[in-house]
Amino acid sequence: MIPVWAQLGYLAAAICFIVALKGLSSPKTARGGNLIGAAGAVLACVITFFAYDVGNLGWILAAIAIGTVIGVVGAQRVQMTQMPQLVALFNGVGGGAAALVALLELNEIVAHGEDGGSALVALIATAFTILVGSVSFSGSMVTFAKLQELMTTRPVTFPGLPVLFGGSLLAGVVLSIVLVAGPGLAVGTVLCLVGLALGVLLVLPVGGADVPIVISLLNAFTGLAVAAGGYVLGNTLLLVAGTLVGASGTFLTKLMADAMGRSLFNTLFGALKGGSTLGGGEISDRPVKSAGAEDIAILLGYAHRVIVVPGYGLAVAQAQHTLRDLVDVLGDRGIKVDYAIHPVAGRMPGHMNVLLAEAQVPYEQLREMDQINGDFKQTDVVLVVGANDVVNPAAKTTPGAPIYGMPILNADESRQIVFMKRSMRPGFAGIENELLFDPKTTLMFGDARDSLTKLLSAVKAL
Ligand code: NDP
Repeated sequence: MIPVWAQLGYLAAAICFIVALKGLSSPKTARGGNLIGAAGAVLACVITFFAYDVGNLGWILAAIAIGTVIGVVGAQRVQMTQMPQLVALFNGVGGGAAALVALLELNEIVAHGEDGGSALVALIATAFTILVGSVSFSGSMVTFAKLQELMTTRPVTFPGLPVLFGGSLLAGVVLSIVLVAGPGLAVGTVLCLVGLALGVLLVLPVGGADVPIVISLLNAFTGLAVAAGGYVLGNTLLLVAGTLVGASGTFLTKLMADAMGRSLFNTLFGALKGGSTLGGGEISDRPVKSAGAEDIAILLGYAHRVIVVPGYGLAVAQAQHTLRDLVDVLGDRGIKVDYAIHPVAGRMPGHMNVLLAEAQVPYEQLREMDQINGDFKQTDVVLVVGANDVVNPAAKTTPGAPIYGMPILNADESRQIVFMKRSMRPGFAGIENELLFDPKTTLMFGDARDSLTKLLSAVKAL
């Protein structure tokens, strides 16, 4: 029985998690939200040591110490653009841990037994945790390998894949029923192996650009597995925390799929129907208009209204501070400048918000797609910094294009368009962007940080 003081402490931790989620919903309060969530997690861990009769203390502390070192060093070293990989890893180990805990709990049930109805529910929860936790672990490891380019980012399919996937899913369900009918460690272990195979088969056919959606889905799976694990262990806080992760992961998956104009089914299984997902792409050799810093500075310096469209390349170049300086100088010249934030710009949800917050860009200047899309018509210059797919009109005009149906920023409606990029390589979707060849468009080739530095000097010299 958990003592009352510990239950109250767990309640406080659960409140921390809920307040943290609220904080994370806006860039202004996200940092504070993150800290509150972390404080809740520390509180929960500390309480657990005092509220339970913990055995193997030396082993546990050693494991915590090793995990802490790996986590701290890993999180400090990771580049912002590698964040989705880190999330995939953390998520995977969470799911794997839930599956292992459920296997251990199964061992306990087999050894000591449990009575009647409570045993039945506990066994159902155990089977669920083992299956879903192991799907989440192996699926997350494949997503990590794809994002880290340890394997191809293209969809991987082979002729028997749908049958193998369907067969594994069926085996998972049947084994879960067998486990509930007659608990045994052997069945539990086979169920875990089937879950691992299922996770791999689920993620293999997903193309590189869709992988973050799948991470979010697997995140929801981990949450559900942890929630069921909380039931198995009789730990309400785990149940609450897992449910929160499961619910928010499900919402995020839906929001991301909507922002890309894709259904979740199409994201997961589109490649099996003949390939709709992304990666790669040809480099175009069609002629384009390009210019140097001085010409672009004149375009910008004498504009009344400018919109900046940041994208993945801004994060790669780490040019957010230089961009902010440029926008400030334009602002000092009396020019109204805003940042147009596309929901899937970059490589993770909220990527541009985080990046620009790092450069302390005022939140009022960050305008969401729906708020700003009407303004492009009255805009003199759109400065597209390291973005491509999020302004690609193919999303509106080319049925069959991988991004067809995705809402985009209406950069094409502005009077002049300036693209900053290094080459004619396509964006993540791997398709040509007709806007690059538009008569209104000028390209400034080079790394975004170099180009912005030159542009900043040129604008100051006007
Ligand atoms: P894109 O990947 O479409 O384009 C990035 C552009 O940046 C490229 O044109 C590239 O051209 C340029 N670039 C790269 N490095 C540099 C650099 N150092 N300096 C200057 N330019 C650079 O990015 P977007 O942000 O427009 O679109 C995001 C894409 O990612 C969409 O397809 C979206 O669906 C996908 N995605 C986003 C997710 C999210 O949650 N945000 C999740 C899943 C997918 P070049 O190489 O020539 O320099």
